[in-house]
Amino acid sequence: MQKKIIPADPKASYLAAKAEIDAAIARVLSSGHYILGPEVEAFEKEFSAWLGVAGTVGVANGTDAIELALQAAGINPGDKVVTVANTVTATVSAIKAAGARPFYTEIDPATMLLDVAALENLLATLRDPKIKAVVPVHLYGQAVDMPRLMEVAEKHHLIVIEDCAQAHGAAIGGRKAGTWGQLAAFSFYPTKNLGALGDGGAVCGNDPALLDQVRALRQYGWRKRYVSEAHGRNSRLDEIQAAILRVRLARLDAENARRTAIAGQYLVGLKSTKLTLPLVLAGRAHCWHQFVVRTPRRDELKTHLEKQGILCGILYPVPIHRQPAYHDAALSFPHTEQACAEVLSLPLHPGLSDDDVARVIREVLAWTA
Ligand SMILES: *Cc1c(COP(=O)(O)O)cnc(C)c1O
Repeated sequence: MQKKIIPADPKASYLAAKAEIDAAIARVLSSGHYILGPEVEAFEKEFSAWLGVAGTVGVANGTDAIELALQAAGINPGDKVVTVANTVTATVSAIKAAGARPFYTEIDPATMLLDVAALENLLATLRDPKIKAVVPVHLYGQAVDMPRLMEVAEKHHLIVIEDCAQAHGAAIGGRKAGTWGQLAAFSFYPTKNLGALGDGGAVCGNDPALLDQVRALRQYGWRKRYVSEAHGRNSRLDEIQAAILRVRLARLDAENARRTAIAGQYLVGLKSTKLTLPLVLAGRAHCWHQFVVRTPRRDELKTHLEKQGILCGILYPVPIHRQPAYHDAALSFPHTEQACAEVLSLPLHPGLSDDDVARVIREVLAWTA
């Protein structure tokens, strides 16, 4: 029996840095400081420096990061927030948790990212003053067209909160995703490009007042201990996860380079097939959170690969407006719906060897032949 190839492998990332991570955990355990201490502070500084922003606020997870960023930026109950429907439910549940109403726009079928022209059209047609913000999702590791999106947002007075949960290292013209909007939300879920060994998230930005507000909201609205200045929550990053994230952050660029090499091997190896391969736009750095191919026979390909011990992901099989909790029969986004029916994520993580990738390519070729 050949070894199984899995879509993501957080355990391999742990084992690759085991001695350092174990030492980091031991350091926290013996420090006596477990919540919002020196490790969180150090991680916030190091992540800001890596990203190229003034500040980072560690929070409990990526969903909270989006919610708290929206709230800090002034989204109020009843406001509408635009995003895409081919994202994880978290993007939309965060918008609802902030008290806002989610609103969707269509994607560009070539990249499967938010189509800025469609957004502009929607805003010009609706002229709805309740639409207050947009949450672009840098899906699969490629950034939305932020220069154009920021222009449109400025023209329509929209707040921009970037969903960077799949975009640790994505960039446009050398400027990273997460440095364009008023605030950006990151997730450190274990399978993300930068993953903790548990939950974690962060809000990043350049505006000290907004960051200060997120800092208060993550802990009961406190600026001073025991004095709540705002209606806040508990959404804290803990010291153990922060210490682990510091170890993993030091390896992130190298791991992203490994992901890029694997993606390059796939792009060459699968060139001759009928599959639609991922399109990397000019001037973009793709951080290859996912390697997503498209075929109308997606389920067949997935089953074929499974039989060969190769497991693939589907991000995402059902668009948000077709999920039971958020179903809206009046909505229709043909490009989004078609993408959800056709996408398949081939295994991609830094723990894969060239031989593993060659085996996946061989099996895909065997199926398409
Ligand atoms: C993972 C993810 C989130 C949510 O992050 P959690 O840490 O799981 O809350 C939000 N948006 C996108 C696009 C994601 O991939």
